[in-house]
Amino acid sequence: MSWRVPLSDLDYGEEERQAVLQVLDSRWLTMGAVTQRFESEFATLVGCKHALAVSNATVALHLACLALGIGPGDEVIAPSLTFVATSNAVLYTGAQVRFSEVTGAHDLNIDPADIERLITPRTRAVIVVHYAGYPCQMQAILSIAHRHNLAVIEDAAHAPGARLGGRSLGAWGDVGCFSFFSNKNLATGEGGMLTTDRDDLADKLRVLRSHGMTSLTWDRHQGHAYSYDVVGLGYNYRMDELRAALGVAQLQKLALNNARRGQLTRAYWEALDGWLEMPFQQLAAQPGVEPVYHIFPALLPPGVDRKAFMDYLRSQGIQTSIHYPPIHTFSYYRELYPNLSLPRTEALAAREITLPLYPTMSPADLEAVAAAVRQALH
Ligand SMILES: *Cc1c(COP(=O)(O)O)cnc(C)c1O
Repeated sequence: MSWRVPLSDLDYGEEERQAVLQVLDSRWLTMGAVTQRFESEFATLVGCKHALAVSNATVALHLACLALGIGPGDEVIAPSLTFVATSNAVLYTGAQVRFSEVTGAHDLNIDPADIERLITPRTRAVIVVHYAGYPCQMQAILSIAHRHNLAVIEDAAHAPGARLGGRSLGAWGDVGCFSFFSNKNLATGEGGMLTTDRDDLADKLRVLRSHGMTSLTWDRHQGHAYSYDVVGLGYNYRMDELRAALGVAQLQKLALNNARRGQLTRAYWEALDGWLEMPFQQLAAQPGVEPVYHIFPALLPPGVDRKAFMDYLRSQGIQTSIHYPPIHTFSYYRELYPNLSLPRTEALAAREITLPLYPTMSPADLEAVAAAVRQALH
């Protein structure tokens, strides 16, 4: 289907083309100088000592859990209102997930009070998700985590470049996990990044990322190593040079594109005031909060038929989406956790609608979406 206004769109141009062609000409295709440059520039962006490029954010989350020693018998607290990869990564390790509620209609991020309610003697970690690039309540969450000796993993898939109190998201917890999937703020097709200030975790993550091996093909090519040992059960979760080159090119555009997303979001808030409930609006106005506006979530008035609303926008050539069907309501998870109900999450998720947002969206595109929303609701 060809949309008049798609849900999201890439900002790709000659820079990305040239970056990939240079890698092809270099004749070195995986985990080399370009990946190292991407990691080092990303570490600078986040203000972390270590950044490790990986195949995607799902494996970043998996490795974060493994490096923290999470496994069978352990519990990890995570929100249900997120992409399913957040909790799948926990299940890969044999640990169990305890799903927590959102804060409320004004803030769809994890509720710190609910984290506290879910803690048991088996709880080892909390995964927070900075929904749409708006910061979770990190001071409160870190204080709970310290009191109960829990690790904190940040699913920062929506949040490259976002900050809270001057500190980047992805640098608040023990490990940050970023996604560079095609529709994210920084897109490489598939791709992800781990960030941490902890040397011990960085060492573990590096080894786990590449088969449990103590040296890389690149190190041996550089003459830095002759052989290797395998010190644990590792994976092949590496990034290649082509994607790293796209990442470096996209990184140059990130600040400008994040700012553009912010302008568009504020234009939506103004154009749809009184028509939809719009979470995060007050949060974004608080001092020290610097979101990166990954998507534009809104809540339909109670009782509005969401499917009919989406169908009307579709008839106008406007693509919409839902973020998210709560994880605990999926068939697979209902079988795992049959009696779980999260009333606040369920009620808000049922009203959620995501409108188009991407840096190259024009003011006319945005006004067309807003006009169609008002038409659908009037
Ligand atoms: C996209 C996304 C992921 C998974 O990222 P991939 O790079 O596609 O594996 C995880 N968590 C959230 C919140 C996401 O939006």
